[in-house]
Amino acid sequence: MNLLLAEDDAILADALCEQMRAMGFDVEHAPNGAVAQYLLAKQAFDMVVLDIGLPMVDGLEVLRQLRQHDASLPVLILTAMDSLEDRVAGLNAGADDYLTKPFDFPELEARVRALMRRSRALKASNELGQLSMQRETRSAQVHGETLELSPREFDLLDLLLTHQGRVITKEQINQVWSGDRGEGVAANNAVEVYIHRLRRKLEGAQVAIRTVRGLGYLLELERS
Ligand code: CA
Repeated sequence: MNLLLAEDDAILADALCEQMRAMGFDVEHAPNGAVAQYLLAKQAFDMVVLDIGLPMVDGLEVLRQLRQHDASLPVLILTAMDSLEDRVAGLNAGADDYLTKPFDFPELEARVRALMRRSRALKASNELGQLSMQRETRSAQVHGETLELSPREFDLLDLLLTHQGRVITKEQINQVWSGDRGEGVAANNAVEVYIHRLRRKLEGAQVAIRTVRGLGYLLELERS
């Protein structure tokens, strides 16, 4: 796990680096906003701890520019205790959480761990193999190419991906579909038909919809 720490206070930065390393992170330290931007462009990180008051380029600007091309990288901002404005601006600019200085290390550790858990859970429910999904726009991609999916196909895939590795029953599928419009009432064999269509659309995605006889279906990584 790679973590970027952007903090200009050298003593605080040293202590934080040491603590994050003890938590198991590989830590890169940026002493100013320009270095932070350089490192963000050059390297992949799993998390950013970002001081707002940074020389060269301030933390808010680093965050705004980051969010233009990366909406999901978890960012925890550090703000001065008296600066409510910074906190609000930070959250508006796309921070996931904030911590006010001075803070206790156990509190920082708890926040970092909570963010990592949230980020992992989100990622796991959005991706498998070469398949990825954006629920906000109801779209799914294989190798980055958007799939053409009817509302019912999307809901079926969403259900499978959310429960990846676990069996979903025909009843669960029909329940999800009951909210869909424009595709008529599902026939008795509709589930089989849609599963068949989805399998074809997912070719090359390195995922498989497995039939679990008598129970239902599950989505898993293709076995090679
Ligand atoms: Ca500072």
